[in-house]
Amino acid sequence: METLKESDSDCYGFNFNNSYLQLPDIFYKRQQPTEVKNPNVIIFNDSLGVALDLNVDTLKKQGSQFLAGSVICSGADPIAQAYAGHQFGNFNILGDGRAILLGEHVTPSKQRVDIQLKGAGRTPYSRSGDGLAALGPMLREYIISEAMYALGIPTTRSLAVTTTGENVYRDNVYPGAVLTRVASSHIRVGTFQFAAATQNTQQLQVLADYTIIRHFPEIADSDNKYLELLTRVIDSQASLIAKWMHVGFIHGVMNTDNMSISGETIDYGPCAFMNIYHPETAFSSIDTNGRYAFGNQPNIAHWNLVRLAETLLPLIHESQEKAISLATKCLDEYPNKFLAYWLSGMRKKLGIFNQEPDDLALAEDLLTYMQKNKADYTNTFRLLAEDSIQNTELYQDDEFRNWLTLWKTKLSRQNETFDESIQLMHAANPKVIPRNHLVEEALDAAVDRGDMRLLNDLLLVVANPYADLNHSSKYMQAPELLFEQQYKTFCGT
Ligand code: AMP
Ligand code: MG
Repeated sequence: METLKESDSDCYGFNFNNSYLQLPDIFYKRQQPTEVKNPNVIIFNDSLGVALDLNVDTLKKQGSQFLAGSVICSGADPIAQAYAGHQFGNFNILGDGRAILLGEHVTPSKQRVDIQLKGAGRTPYSRSGDGLAALGPMLREYIISEAMYALGIPTTRSLAVTTTGENVYRDNVYPGAVLTRVASSHIRVGTFQFAAATQNTQQLQVLADYTIIRHFPEIADSDNKYLELLTRVIDSQASLIAKWMHVGFIHGVMNTDNMSISGETIDYGPCAFMNIYHPETAFSSIDTNGRYAFGNQPNIAHWNLVRLAETLLPLIHESQEKAISLATKCLDEYPNKFLAYWLSGMRKKLGIFNQEPDDLALAEDLLTYMQKNKADYTNTFRLLAEDSIQNTELYQDDEFRNWLTLWKTKLSRQNETFDESIQLMHAANPKVIPRNHLVEEALDAAVDRGDMRLLNDLLLVVANPYADLNHSSKYMQAPELLFEQQYKTFCGT
């Protein structure tokens, strides 16, 4: 393995630091990525590169070996992270089986982000897996994570996808690829579960202290900082899941190892955006019972947070009874916190400035009529914002028309003008989302024919979801009902 000297390229502007290595060594294993045959950067995120103060041009032109993990910059000290997790409710000891953390890049403005290579070869946590990733799922993560970012939803981001020149064997043979993932950290609920499973409270405490310093430094001097940590994570998850619900995002595999402590959306596998509104929508091929269906996401997040709270009990109070009572009090606040975040976003989606007690019923009634009439979630809200809902099938429903009258009357009671409501709604209701059929079409072209045009076009469109731009109408069209009913997503392992 070659090590780039800093003078070779100044490491493309990367300024690596490895604070995670301060943790006890049970939390990681040093692991170099596997060298690959013929790396080729096929997509690179210029604006993210600039935001991270990297040497974008050099990295794009000369950095393929680095982005595929075949050369390591000085300062990077690659590791695979240990974690555990409840997968579909079953506890397992896991760890990065196909991801390698190069280190943390610290920007000139002192922002610290993890730089991780997903699909960079086997690690001590790979179990029977090959440590590799196929091109399709890595491009999928790139598209969806960048779309989420543009929608204003906290998320890990994608700096590049680099093909390896090697094959990956799944149900078929696919080109291999490495995704360069940028995250504010990769500390998961599952990382705490891993620490708790060792039954070594001191190690757990080191992890909690590290997490507090890294993500919530403002609580470091709190009276009970571990309880405060729990409170913060509960709050950021309530806010995050509400944002998912506002745009119809279905994560698809909300295992506790796929829930980030930082409050970012992480681990894009079988995720998808809902078209027709129905709370039971689940696309993941392995989610046969709909555990992670759209409407279950708030409850699943709560369940995951209870798992986090369990790990923190020994730190929260020396008396287990007292610890449970303190943690339970925090957890019991989650449903109300979620509801408050959700309702606040729904008010914006409906152009509501002044809060009234019947806002919740108004929002829920609209969803009921959307469900009953198989209305498209994104387009319904956007058409309301554009005051052109009259052209839809939903408008044929008498109940919906009554709702519309109620809603408009409500808006007319506000001090703000209808135009101001419209502006609020435009900023809260995306005109475009990465529609599943368009994502699949773009991935097919990229993977089967090496044609990146559809994908690049789609990326441009979803990068500006709220603006009133003159895109081709295909980006706003919902897929055929049959497509929607048969659509399945896969974990991409
Ligand atoms: P995921 O469902 O993608 O969150 O992954 C669950 C666990 O399986 C994690 O520990 C991953 O690192 C591991 N894993 C997924 N794919 C592979 C692979 N191809 N090789 C090795 N480990 C994998
Ligand atoms: Mg995962």
